Amino acid sequence: MPNLNRPLPPALAILNTLAADLWWSWNHAGDALWHRLNPAVWQNTGNPVSVLQFTSNQHLEKLATDQEFLQLLAQLVAERDRYLAAPGWYDQHCPESPLKTIAYFSMEFGVCDALPLYAGGLGILAGDYLKTASDLAVPLVGVGLLYQEGYFRQSFDNQGWQQQTYLFNDPGSLPLTPLLDSDGSWMDVATNFLCREVLFRVWVAQVGRVKLYLLDSNHPCNQPRDRGITSQLYGGGTELRLVQEIALGIGGWRLLEQLGIEVDICHLNEGHAAFATLERIRAYCTKYRVDFWQALWATRSGNLFTTHTPVAAGFDRYPAELLRRYAGEIAPEMGVNMEDILALGRANPKDEQEDFNMAYLAMRTCAYSNGVSELHGRVSQRIFQPLFPRWPQREVPVGHVTNGVHIPSWASDASNRLWQQSFGDHLWQGDETGLTPDRWKTLSDEQLWQLISSGRADLVDYARMRYQRQWRHESSGASCNVPPPRPLDPNILTLGFARRFAEYKRPDLLLHDPERLAALLCNHRYPVQLLVAGKAHPADKLGKAKLQHWQTFLQREDIAKHLMFIEDYDIALARRLVQGVDVWINNPRRPWEACGTSGMKVLVNGGLNLSSLDGWWAEAYQPELGWALGKGEEYGPEHDAAEAEQLYQLLEQQIIPCFYERDNSDLPRRWLGLVRTSMMQLTPRFSTNRMLRDYLERYYIPAAHQYQERTANQGALAHELQQWQKHMAQHWHEIHLGNLVVGEDVDGLLAEAQVYLGGIAPAQVVIEIIADPVGELPAASVQMTLAYPLSGAINAYHYQARLPAHRPASDWSLRARAYHPKAQLPAENPLILWAD
Ligand SMILES: *Cc1c(COP(=O)(O)O)cnc(C)c1O
Repeated sequence: MPNLNRPLPPALAILNTLAADLWWSWNHAGDALWHRLNPAVWQNTGNPVSVLQFTSNQHLEKLATDQEFLQLLAQLVAERDRYLAAPGWYDQHCPESPLKTIAYFSMEFGVCDALPLYAGGLGILAGDYLKTASDLAVPLVGVGLLYQEGYFRQSFDNQGWQQQTYLFNDPGSLPLTPLLDSDGSWMDVATNFLCREVLFRVWVAQVGRVKLYLLDSNHPCNQPRDRGITSQLYGGGTELRLVQEIALGIGGWRLLEQLGIEVDICHLNEGHAAFATLERIRAYCTKYRVDFWQALWATRSGNLFTTHTPVAAGFDRYPAELLRRYAGEIAPEMGVNMEDILALGRANPKDEQEDFNMAYLAMRTCAYSNGVSELHGRVSQRIFQPLFPRWPQREVPVGHVTNGVHIPSWASDASNRLWQQSFGDHLWQGDETGLTPDRWKTLSDEQLWQLISSGRADLVDYARMRYQRQWRHESSGASCNVPPPRPLDPNILTLGFARRFAEYKRPDLLLHDPERLAALLCNHRYPVQLLVAGKAHPADKLGKAKLQHWQTFLQREDIAKHLMFIEDYDIALARRLVQGVDVWINNPRRPWEACGTSGMKVLVNGGLNLSSLDGWWAEAYQPELGWALGKGEEYGPEHDAAEAEQLYQLLEQQIIPCFYERDNSDLPRRWLGLVRTSMMQLTPRFSTNRMLRDYLERYYIPAAHQYQERTANQGALAHELQQWQKHMAQHWHEIHLGNLVVGEDVDGLLAEAQVYLGGIAPAQVVIEIIADPVGELPAASVQMTLAYPLSGAINAYHYQARLPAHRPASDWSLRARAYHPKAQLPAENPLILWAD
């Protein structure tokens, strides 16, 4: 078996265990230890497995008798033991929770750069989420793919064009262990594609208390081309993407079954993994010998879909033909035909021309779904409207949980110490009771300024080091001896801009007027420096052009000391940036940034945000804690010039003067006031700590109850719900709504209507009257009550309701909707009828 079993002197044997636990990626107590073992490898890789592999026996033997080293090791081991053994927040706060296991599926996981299985925000969120589940001791497992190549590494050619290099993810030096079967053999999972079996080897990454399972198609028994299924993240074409998604969803769920893990919640981090819900149904059908539809009703209540896309074009879609070829074998196994499966992925199930949409599949097979910020929740309601015809957009069943970041991963050591001194050791393990305004007062402006200044100085050192490296790489042999000028200054206002170079993020908005930007940076009295980083997707020509735009600007000599583009944006670089910038700039085109998380990473370190009112910033922004670009309008590219103008103005007139406004003790008091408010109010609020608690409260725990209820007694309730749905579908057209009559009596407004229910029982519908928002008046709904049966008619009733007096009768409309107390509505049954 590969890796992690470096023969070690007995006194150091525990190092293999420590290296295998990614806990080291956020608890930095071990950094000194890995550094002692092998400074060069530790610095270059940040990977303890590589550190151990490249350290000589001789050095190891020496350290095995080095008392200081052994003490360091003992401390670290004790700290990890304490971490693993401590009763977690979850056990203390959710003793009644019915949850067994949450399975968290994601196409990307960005836990750390030593395990590079991510491209951007989606993966980093997933990584941060696993670490938080570990910190809070929430019973969660991750499921993903092990890519043989990570996302590309970035450099530039002489003309400033991005170059991509794909490095081999050598499993032998990744912090992973092969997952073994009970018989000691390497566990694998089989899936079927195109009438042949494909095997996936399984690896485990230990993330503190949490396990992340990774499927790898590079199995020696596979046909050569199948071994490359998990070759690249977001590489290849449509077909490979589909195969990867089948691997993740179907293979991933099979693995959980094979392991005997009792999963009640299946959480899809984006629609990529939606096939997991189908495999879950298949497994349920087989186990309980029920049909597909009953299994769907049983399992759906345990499925949660988190959408991250602000535009419908962002969803993965496949031509039906492709799906028929690849998934044709799955349908018969579940006792349905392929057309039934295809219908689940279409807005209009009957339209055979419509592509199969993974997000639609997820919506149909998950009782719960959510967007990733308040604004994105609303945007998603619009996007998913086609699945809920005749429902008002505001009632489309998509909620929201705003994303967060894992604070210990992004806090600098200095910041960590400061927070711990002021607020206690266990701050980010669920207990935030120490974060009181009184305690905040004990933190002085001097301490805050010290934190910020040292963070900036560290960043400047780091950036210079990167600059040297980049420069060596770029320069030809002859000029190797000429040292580059020393760029940057640890004492001036430092702005950061780093993200994927996607068009909607407008990564060259700052460059809109190059002269203005240059003047702003080089101002003698109030100098400013800017650090930029980011990758463009290899197929994104526009993004690459924007990178080149920056590279060209960089050639100007006047700005050389004030601007640096740091190549190869990754977690390690992001950490350095967010720990040292004064202001983090983000200027996406609203509402395209579903949430955005990079700006949250500066909060704990005392950085401030300047951002479009989009994603998380739309709900976080207050004038006393940062700056907003725009007023929340939504424009196309024609408005970029005006927004660039506003961006410059904010910097020139507000941000720069504020930073340089100093009192007698040379402190920028007003700036520090903003920092204090931002740190105090936003850090806990935009943490994955809060995010995970939201998921537990809003989704996991209620869903686990529902799932239990539906599957108890051989799925009796699931069966009942399925029968109910069938009945409703058959008889819905028989409902007839009479006219809504609103009259006035002594008690106020009285609404009345005659309703003919046909084959549907009164308990199976809700008859209600609805008012759309008008001017200041919000939307409203009033449920009608059955007053008495209509004589001479069968199953027809007189319904009544009292209406609030302040709305005109013409505001109200009458409707009927399907109802069952145990169904999640309208998600699971969107039947609705409006009166003419
Ligand atoms: C946090 C992070 C992201 C996500 O940043 P956004 O601004 O939300 O797009 C992307 N890449 C890296 C390396 C990050 O650390």
